[in-house]
Amino acid sequence: MEKMSLNEIRRRFLEFFESKGHYVESSYPLVPQNDKSLLLINAGMAPLKNYFTGAEKPPEVRMATCQKCIRTGDIENVGYTSRHGTFFEMLGNFSFGDYFKEESIKWGWEFLTENLGMSVEELWPSVYFEDDEAFAIWRDVIGVPEEKITRLGKEDNFWEIGVGPCGPCSEIYVDRGEKFGCGHEDCKPGCECDRYVEIWNHVFTQFERTEQGEYVPLAQKNIDTGMGLERVACVMQDVDSIFEVDTIRSILDKVVEISGKAYGETRATDISIRIITDHMRACSFLICDGVMPHNEGRGYVLRRLLRRAARHGKMLGIEGAFLTDLVDEVIKVSGEAYPELVKRHDYIKKILLIEEERFQQTIDQGLSILKDYIAELEEKGEKHLSGEHAFKLYDTFGFPLDLTKEILDEKGMDVDEDAFKREMEEQRDRARSARNNGEEVGWEDDAFSALSDDVTSEFVGYDRVAEAAEVLAIAEETGLVQEATAGEKVRVILNRSPFYPEGGGQLGDQGDLTVDGATMTVTDTKKGSNGTIIHVGEMKEGTLKVGDRVMASVNNDRRLDIARNHTATHLLHKALKMVLGDHVEQAGSLVGPDRMRFDFSHFQALTTEEVGLVEAIVNDKIFMPHEVKTALMDIDKAREMGATALFGEKYGSEVRVVRVGEFSIELCGGTHLQNTSEIGLFKIASEAGVAAGVRRIEVITGRKVYAYLKELDEKLVRVADELKSTLSDVAEKAGQLTSDLKKLQKENESLKAKAASQNSAGLIDKALEVNGFKLITEKLVGVDANTMRTMGDQIKDKLEKGVVVLASDLGEKVIFLVMATDDAVKEGAHAGKLVGEVAKIAKGGGGGRPNMAQAGAKDASKIEDALKKAVEIVGNY
Ligand code: ATP
Ligand code: MG
Repeated sequence: MEKMSLNEIRRRFLEFFESKGHYVESSYPLVPQNDKSLLLINAGMAPLKNYFTGAEKPPEVRMATCQKCIRTGDIENVGYTSRHGTFFEMLGNFSFGDYFKEESIKWGWEFLTENLGMSVEELWPSVYFEDDEAFAIWRDVIGVPEEKITRLGKEDNFWEIGVGPCGPCSEIYVDRGEKFGCGHEDCKPGCECDRYVEIWNHVFTQFERTEQGEYVPLAQKNIDTGMGLERVACVMQDVDSIFEVDTIRSILDKVVEISGKAYGETRATDISIRIITDHMRACSFLICDGVMPHNEGRGYVLRRLLRRAARHGKMLGIEGAFLTDLVDEVIKVSGEAYPELVKRHDYIKKILLIEEERFQQTIDQGLSILKDYIAELEEKGEKHLSGEHAFKLYDTFGFPLDLTKEILDEKGMDVDEDAFKREMEEQRDRARSARNNGEEVGWEDDAFSALSDDVTSEFVGYDRVAEAAEVLAIAEETGLVQEATAGEKVRVILNRSPFYPEGGGQLGDQGDLTVDGATMTVTDTKKGSNGTIIHVGEMKEGTLKVGDRVMASVNNDRRLDIARNHTATHLLHKALKMVLGDHVEQAGSLVGPDRMRFDFSHFQALTTEEVGLVEAIVNDKIFMPHEVKTALMDIDKAREMGATALFGEKYGSEVRVVRVGEFSIELCGGTHLQNTSEIGLFKIASEAGVAAGVRRIEVITGRKVYAYLKELDEKLVRVADELKSTLSDVAEKAGQLTSDLKKLQKENESLKAKAASQNSAGLIDKALEVNGFKLITEKLVGVDANTMRTMGDQIKDKLEKGVVVLASDLGEKVIFLVMATDDAVKEGAHAGKLVGEVAKIAKGGGGGRPNMAQAGAKDASKIEDALKKAVEIVGNY
């Protein structure tokens, strides 16, 4: 048998089934698209579910894929068995109502024995014990001896999930030889040991299981097969486990290299090495497909795998962050088959590193605390960690419960999980009530809650901004009222309204309600219960009564400004995905008339180029007008069209879809423009981080950009005026002035130095003879400390046994400088001490070395006295 690389086997499989008329599709992302029932794709058929049920039409009735899969359920097996990974690739051929059992089995056999060249002796099929049809195909069409065909029960060989399509399976096992066996007499395919490895499962969906538990034959019979690529490679390369398959082995080798541990020597070390290897494959692919570390859902799966890998690294004695080095290896071996890995190489490493470092910081602390807990338990002879302690580890040190459980398990201990859950629940309650307390509970809602259920409002504002309507209810601070008069703060419900109530990030409309002689100014619009629209504001004049027919008019300028920002939000969202990648998810937005704020997931600040690019893309869609179209449709239809839905948002079965040309399609209930050109202009005003992994962009559009440009313009004119320049020359003029200024500063410095040296020359002649020292004391005005030092140095050089005392009057303060020559110091002079005493006279203080010292003081009027003091002190040396 030819040794074949994993990548080669994948290629051969897809080519083989293409030659049998299959449409080859590349792997679907690990994150299920439009399927809320599944956390992560766990089999080749999972993303094709709708083709099996008939809900959607497949591109072809025969398909083949190599699908990335994650099976978290196998996590306990990984590292321990030879054949499980949390991540693996599943080869599959599928028939949607086309060919059935015979072709599937025949082609499967042909591929394994002829294309891959596996030996017939090693292959062992199994069938569902009642499936005589499949049994007969193996025996009569393929020619496998009866005694080699194992009939297995429902548990192994019947595929079903609740009600719906289901059917028997036929598996193909490879006999890896006695050395892998358990030695039992009845060891045969289906045995849990490593001798007979299941490599390929053919599922024949031929029944529909009804609510009553009956199996009704399906009109459209399907084939769904799955073969683990790593397992086939394991056989083809004649290695002991999937971890020794070429591509995976090179990642494993990297772990060995980083840890400095040998592989194949001790079981515990080997398990850790395999776990890290597997988990890093899983993490790389998960991040690549847009999953972010998180405390729930698929983000939790990622976080758990990543932290588990990091922890096993610690167990191997690896210090510091090391996981990103492994990503390089994963991408090296899988990048060709999955180009998205290569494309997002840097991104994957960045996210991994942030998460790993975050974990490193807490894990050490957490581990040592857990160790203490364990020691405590051991001392007491107990085996259960309290829920409270487990929760503390979770809450304070970011320890997932599973990690705690796993570490305890190694000691034969466990956690009181119910208590843990109770703690968790209590914390949620606390958080919830904290939120509620902070929230204002509006009086108005209470007032309206007394209304009967038939009080509701129809929103007519998508295509109208003014509408005649009837007043159904009025509320004031005191509760429901029948009428309201000028000056009163009111809330009004109409039977229908063009006012958009705040929602989906878009602010509520403003405008007014009028009826002869009466006007209410609407400052905000909100959603009330039972589908009501609440107009919030104040009575400007007259009296408004329940039952009045009013004209409800929205401030259309403001509405249009909001629409500019809202349509721009959709353009921005799409442009960000294009420039930064598909991990960009809207995390929140605020769409008002003056500005728009958009929060999204991303891990680092945008570069100037990225901001520029996003801005350019959006403006491009404005300059080349794109029609904005809205439509109501079935949620499934919208998803099928690829509409972007917001994370965690609940949608009804009918949704509103907003399409901007062919460029963007989103589920959205907001009010929009009819054409992107109405936006006028789009400008990103700021970009900043708001939380870990969340960025915020603030935008202005339309007239706000115009106002901004005008302001800039005015500023520039002012600058030009100040610089005595024209607008067109202002930049050059500013440059010129700065360089002139620099030149002048330089000149100034050299003049000062010159003046200092002239002064110094004059001073030398004034030296007094005091007690055998040459003493110079001088009062200067407006000379800075630097110049004083230069002067001091110059004088000192020319004096023998000299002491120089300079005082400079700088207006608010005085600076004293004392210098003493080396021979003066030898004779007892001390600049530091001298300056301290001198400065004291002028209300100051300071000190320094014997040969040079400086001090500051406040009272310039005492300078003469201070200098006299110096003469006195030197006289006493
Ligand atoms: P097993 O009993 O060995 O866990 P399974 O019955 O769970 O296998 P299926 O659900 O039939 O496997 O998946 C189809 C094929 O996918 C299997 O035949 C096997 O080759 C491969 N496979 C399944 N789980 C894994 C895994 N965790 N790692 C690698 N390959 C796997
Ligand atoms: Mg399994």
